[in-house]
Amino acid sequence: MTEIKQNGLVISERDLGENDKILTVLTERYGKLSVVAKGAKSVRNRHMPSTQLFAYSSLGLRKKGNYYYITDSDLIENYYDIRNDIVKLSLATFICDVINDVAQEGNNEDEILRLALNMLFAISKEIKPLEVIRAVFQLRLASELGFTPSIDACHVCNESSSNEYYLDIIDGVVTCPSCKNKTNFTFEDNPFYEKGLNKPVAVVSMSVLKAIDFVCTTSQNKLLSFSLGDSEWTSFFDVSEKFLLNHLERGFYSLDFYKSLLF
Ligand SMILES: [Zn+2]
Repeated sequence: MTEIKQNGLVISERDLGENDKILTVLTERYGKLSVVAKGAKSVRNRHMPSTQLFAYSSLGLRKKGNYYYITDSDLIENYYDIRNDIVKLSLATFICDVINDVAQEGNNEDEILRLALNMLFAISKEIKPLEVIRAVFQLRLASELGFTPSIDACHVCNESSSNEYYLDIIDGVVTCPSCKNKTNFTFEDNPFYEKGLNKPVAVVSMSVLKAIDFVCTTSQNKLLSFSLGDSEWTSFFDVSEKFLLNHLERGFYSLDFYKSLLF
């Protein structure tokens, strides 16, 4: 039997019988783990505070078969404010869903765990508008997964003084208007395009490109420290969503639900 001690964040929970739960816990060193929480549905259970969705705890875990079992728990943060607001709750659920989709078991997922914790803190304290937090999460996660765009100048002529650029969402490169007709965009390579779900090319200003570059490359503790002109946020939000969903090649029910609450 293997015993480990790790800080872990509960990113999904489901019931197991009347008293127990199966949790998905994201840890720094061991990535995503399936954890059986015996008796977790009872308020008298000593591990109850650490077995709730979004709970971040120091955990003692013992492996038996395909699952880990909790031997010890000490809650660090529960992001309690998130539960009191359905919009915050649905955004946090989307973030955990995406991370559950991309995190691997056995991988070091330190950066993704830090990103999740930063975003949950930002949502719980609402230190920025929720749509800004979502956009930053989507871009930075795509970047952590290896999809950092190369966008400081036109990839054909290297020019960087145009008012607008065409961002190829799949290849992560930009083209200036005068070079636009000289290159082939990846319309036919993109599974979303034919279904009409997403356009793979977005028209964006240089300031939006700079904001995207900042979010993809800055240190995690500065992720939300940037601003844009009022008219540019919509474009930033739009690109960030397309960028992540096109690279993951899927949508999320929890994202659709969150968006249904906004409009
Ligand atoms: Zn050009």
